[in-house]
Amino acid sequence: MSRDDRQKLLELRDLRTYFDVEGRTAKAVDGVSFDIYTNEVFGLVGESGSGKSVTSLSIMRLIPNPPGRIESGEIRFRGQNLLDLSFAEMRKIRGNDISMIFQEPMTALNPVFTIGYQLREGIRYHSKCSKAEAEDRATEMLDLVGIPDPRRRLKDYPHQFSGGMRQRAMIAMALSMEPGLLIADEPTTALDVTIQAQILELMLKVREKTGDASILLITHDLAVVAETCDRVAVMYGGKIQEISEVKALFKTPLHPYTQGLLSSLPRPDKQKKTRLDTIPGIVPSIMSMPPGCKFAARCPIAEPRCERDEPELREITPGRFCRCHLVDGKGGGRAW
Ligand code: SF4
Repeated sequence: MSRDDRQKLLELRDLRTYFDVEGRTAKAVDGVSFDIYTNEVFGLVGESGSGKSVTSLSIMRLIPNPPGRIESGEIRFRGQNLLDLSFAEMRKIRGNDISMIFQEPMTALNPVFTIGYQLREGIRYHSKCSKAEAEDRATEMLDLVGIPDPRRRLKDYPHQFSGGMRQRAMIAMALSMEPGLLIADEPTTALDVTIQAQILELMLKVREKTGDASILLITHDLAVVAETCDRVAVMYGGKIQEISEVKALFKTPLHPYTQGLLSSLPRPDKQKKTRLDTIPGIVPSIMSMPPGCKFAARCPIAEPRCERDEPELREITPGRFCRCHLVDGKGGGRAW
């Protein structure tokens, strides 16, 4: 299927999410635009503090207000701007059309209710089925995510599940209503390395069996992106710096930040290095972002204009976007 034949499921346009802290404004997400197509796994990657999680919470309309607020922009899901919906309308969308898996399932699961109760309640809230039907569906979903003896384990409380099992239960919950979009925010970060690959594989497998949801995968781990995603957006300083198909990004990263991230990865196929490269400096504070390119203080090829002028995100080649003065597309660039 060509790029233009694909249907857009989610369209973010110039999203700005700000936090008011001690009389100042922190621009956590500052003009973010990207699309997610149907049946696509889209990665959002970046260091801590780059704005990835605030972007996902904004899509779910879960930004705590105060101190946070969605200042402006559009979040179009199946053509409808979610920012126009009432709180009650948005509750129907959450879980039913858009689900979320959080980094630490213990914070998302309620410790005083059984896994079964929490699964059934979600199913009954959205589908209005009987208790017995919800119980059957909950059992089926736990079975699908590989929990042995699922009907009995529905009676367990979250603390009786291991970390990996809790994340499996979260995947069961998130996919039980066959949502169109699954947002997975660092879904394997809190798990052992041996469990991480299992959970990612499971998420993709269960998603196929339950209706082929598109996935927005938030991660700081480029290896996870390489294994899992179709396209990826690289975020830094509350802005998208590069968008690309995953293969192209790994082959020829355009943005100096992406190049830095990739060269800091161990590459067993390349010449052995005694030390891995690092990106010098730290992510700028969202309380005091520099006026020009947000990466200027750490960029090895920065020019004087970089500190002064903010570059735009431009389409360099079809489907590849980059925010850098020195990657110009030779006249073919198109701003979002
Ligand atoms: Fe580096 Fe300048 Fe490009 Fe920013 S705009 S990434 S500072 S070259």
